[in-house]
Amino acid sequence: MNNFKLLAMLCIVMGFSSCRTSTKDHTNKTGKEYTSAYICPMHCEGSGAEVPGLCPVCGMDYIKNDKK
Ligand SMILES: [Zn+2]
Repeated sequence: MNNFKLLAMLCIVMGFSSCRTSTKDHTNKTGKEYTSAYICPMHCEGSGAEVPGLCPVCGMDYIKNDKK
């Protein structure tokens, strides 16, 4: 019975750590879609440019990146 509890705890710990890793990846804001002079309001993956234009992913107008 003790062994079963230990195994269950191990599963929970591993589940938490994998969840934390994916959350970290999701909130990564160092990509081009965040750092370019003009960015998509939706921050689509692969969007962002140094000149105004349209997002190739969702088709929305780029907005000027104020955080730059
Ligand atoms: Zn977009």
